[in-house]
Amino acid sequence: MNEHKRLPAVDRVLQQIPDLIDVHGRQPVTACVRAELAAAREGLKFGLPLPDDASLLAAIRRRAEAAGQARLRSVFNLTGTVLHTNLGRAQLAEEAIAAMVEAARSPCPLEYDLASGGRGDRDDLVSGLLAELIAGGSPNIAATIVNNNAAAVLLTLNALAQGKEAVVSRGELVEIGGAFRIPDVMRRAQVKLHEIGTTNRTHAKDFQEAINPKTALLMKIHTSNYAVTGFTATVDEKAIADIAHAAGLPFVIDLGSGTLCDFAAYGLPAEPTPQQALAAGADIVTFSGDKLLGGPQAGLIVGRKDLIAKIKKNPLKRALRVGKTTLAALEATLRLYRDPDRLAERLPTLRLLTRPLAEINALAERLLPLVQATFGELATVSVEPCCSQIGSGALPVERLPSAALVFRVNAKRAGKMLLSIEAAFRGLPTPVIGYIRDDAYHLDLRCLEGKDETRFTAQLPQLKL
Ligand SMILES: *Cc1c(COP(=O)(O)O)cnc(C)c1O
Repeated sequence: MNEHKRLPAVDRVLQQIPDLIDVHGRQPVTACVRAELAAAREGLKFGLPLPDDASLLAAIRRRAEAAGQARLRSVFNLTGTVLHTNLGRAQLAEEAIAAMVEAARSPCPLEYDLASGGRGDRDDLVSGLLAELIAGGSPNIAATIVNNNAAAVLLTLNALAQGKEAVVSRGELVEIGGAFRIPDVMRRAQVKLHEIGTTNRTHAKDFQEAINPKTALLMKIHTSNYAVTGFTATVDEKAIADIAHAAGLPFVIDLGSGTLCDFAAYGLPAEPTPQQALAAGADIVTFSGDKLLGGPQAGLIVGRKDLIAKIKKNPLKRALRVGKTTLAALEATLRLYRDPDRLAERLPTLRLLTRPLAEINALAERLLPLVQATFGELATVSVEPCCSQIGSGALPVERLPSAALVFRVNAKRAGKMLLSIEAAFRGLPTPVIGYIRDDAYHLDLRCLEGKDETRFTAQLPQLKL
């Protein structure tokens, strides 16, 4: 018990770390001091020696720094998946970031009509822009924005088909990661799923024969994260639209990802667009803000004005609506699409997807000697071709040629070594996230842009190998 006396008092310790208090605040640092003193006391019970002053202070410093670090901070996404859901999907354009900051910092006319001084509607901030970009400015097209595309589908179904039936092909009853499954969403929306066709083949007559007095709408879901190949048949959008309209029913398309530009024009695999969906006769199209569109997390519902009005009246809309920072980022992102000439430069998602292979290779060759020097004998590092993917379910079978730094270990416990290399990269001040495949650790360099190169190399000496 006497030993307790030799532990310094909290106040005395605090006097020695004014710099920590400056950075983190008195209360949080005091909590760290108490926690370390308690740990030392606990250690005594197990016969451990008391820490000396220097190691006690170092432990307090480590604890305060760990506690002071934000959980949501930047990482390097070198997974090769450009739109990585677990890493926050789309990186926003500088224009969108600036708009978010402005909206966060100052009052803004979120629901205020500056022309009349009366009440405004937050959807109006982007509704006209979306009609312009998607439907050539048609006055019959409007939009409403919710928290994500899952919410967009839920709300649309509930608003347009509650207590009735929605007709969907069996080939399109998708599950997106994270428990979004079309049959479950239908149930939650209180809509009866009327499945038609088979897993591989659905025909126009399946849609025709499904229509009955309880039918509320026909629906198509973009099979965004898988491909049905072989002996298959689907009904094209125009044909479904014709069948729906002949029966006086709306046709809804869930696109999932939704780019507003022609991917083929950028040398990328073609992806269906909301423009094409509406042109083919869809009455409502839903898509994500943070997938190929390259904006903030949001769900966009675009289509016939009367149906949008009905959707907006649904009480779920109020529960699912987005805030000012999201709308600010979305508006700024959409504005970039007005200027297609500079889009690939300004929109990070498109910039990363279209990044020239030669540029990625050149970066890899620049980094290689630095990384090799860091690893010495511990691993062989080489530059190898690899394939990036778009991610977030978009274009699931397409791969983009890229280059990776590849780490191989020639030792008995190579598997374990690779895991510790992976953990060391994750443990850096700006964590680096790669992947292990074919007994090698890979860092796909597609998403390491020039502006971040020195930030990446500067922290290499801190790798704890
Ligand atoms: C991604 C996706 C969703 C869900 O969108 P979130 O924005 O992630 O909520 C819904 N439907 C399809 C077809 C999708 O690809």
